[in-house]
Amino acid sequence: MEFRLEQKRQIVTEVPGPKSKEIAERRAKYVSASVGSALPSYIEQADGAVLRDVDGNQFIDFGSGIGVTTVGNSSPKVVKAIQETAAANTHLQINTAPYENYVDLCQKLTEITPGDFDKKAVLFNSGAEALENAVKIARKHTGRNAIVVFEHAFHGRTNLTMAMTSKNAPYKDGFGPFAPEVYRAPLSYPYRDAEGLTGAQAAARTIDMIDKQVGAKNVAAIIIEPLVGEGGFIVPAEGFLPALVEYAHENGIVFVSDEVQAGMCRTGKWFCSEWDGIEPDLVTSAKGIAGGMPLSAVIGRAEIMDASHPGGIGGTYSGNPIANAAALATIEAYEEEHLRDEALRIEQKIREILEPLVAELDVVGEVRGRGAMMAVELVTGADKTPNPELVKKVVADALAQGVLFLTCGTYGNVVRFLPPLVISDELLEDGLGVLVEAIRKHA
Ligand SMILES: *Cc1c(COP(=O)(O)O)cnc(C)c1O
Repeated sequence: MEFRLEQKRQIVTEVPGPKSKEIAERRAKYVSASVGSALPSYIEQADGAVLRDVDGNQFIDFGSGIGVTTVGNSSPKVVKAIQETAAANTHLQINTAPYENYVDLCQKLTEITPGDFDKKAVLFNSGAEALENAVKIARKHTGRNAIVVFEHAFHGRTNLTMAMTSKNAPYKDGFGPFAPEVYRAPLSYPYRDAEGLTGAQAAARTIDMIDKQVGAKNVAAIIIEPLVGEGGFIVPAEGFLPALVEYAHENGIVFVSDEVQAGMCRTGKWFCSEWDGIEPDLVTSAKGIAGGMPLSAVIGRAEIMDASHPGGIGGTYSGNPIANAAALATIEAYEEEHLRDEALRIEQKIREILEPLVAELDVVGEVRGRGAMMAVELVTGADKTPNPELVKKVVADALAQGVLFLTCGTYGNVVRFLPPLVISDELLEDGLGVLVEAIRKHA
């Protein structure tokens, strides 16, 4: 594969460098303090798995802009599709003057989403917007109100999706009141659940809560991330998700898989729910769907997707033709460049490098995830007390050396790996080597 930027890290000034510092000063004056940044440097160019800042420093990208540039930063196929479509039309609006690539993309999405039944799709701009609309569709279809979500869940920052999100700070603190009829159920979190608790037992615990506290006949939708993202890259125990799908179907409840982060090849399958052998009624997709263009989708059973009256669902910018073209090119690149296999290669490499640390250092609690959605949970010792201080030190050390890691977890004690699928083994080894050294140093 050819790249514009040499695929290596390179630190040529202090981080942040002088030009970044100058921009940061203007930012402090003009940009709302509500916006945070992991990296103190300002990026000028991104290519493949490398970010280059305004001072010429290059960082290995283990974040992909929160799992968005899965196909690679500035993927040539995607860039070309964006340029050509923009030259033909910068905006078309599906409710006023329709256009073909909206149909093309919905067709393609229904083909790659799990489920052996007729499917339809609808397009939006952000992950939160897809979640909001999945709720609208499920409520309209069932005539019910209650929405069941889970501990450690993240579903977005709008009012309804804040209610659906689990963690108070920074997502909800002071932003209430929140939308009603959202109920939080226990998750399956193998590392922190009682030892030996099976997926089926964890599901029974969840179902008992729904039956006793909400009542199955009141529930419009059960909404879950099949691999919990912001909450800590938690993989539920085997059997947990299938048991919930079965319960949903016995009770006329719409089962929604929120794959905004875990979908679109990130875990080595088109959608993460394939790993659990489940067929969700609705899937929400965003992040990795369009190589960086703002686009999201709800895809699912045709009869559920048709529940809303015409005009009930949509938005001015929803399914913008440039974003659609980018998504179609992104999906083509996933297929032609066999990027699902690359996700599995990345998982193997991460496990090979990090898993030995679990036995070696008691601060390394667990290495987990699927494909190119992996993480390491850091603790203080055998009692598994979360260690967010260590995570902060390690990530800061790596940044100074040219490796960008993102963190996550309800307790802020998880380092997550979301590299673009085009990252080479050499870059993975180099970046993870820096991480391992930093963990050893601060352990
Ligand atoms: C990021 C995310 C969202 C929200 O997406 P936005 O585009 O930020 O609104 C929803 N669900 C999951 C699982 C996410 O990771």
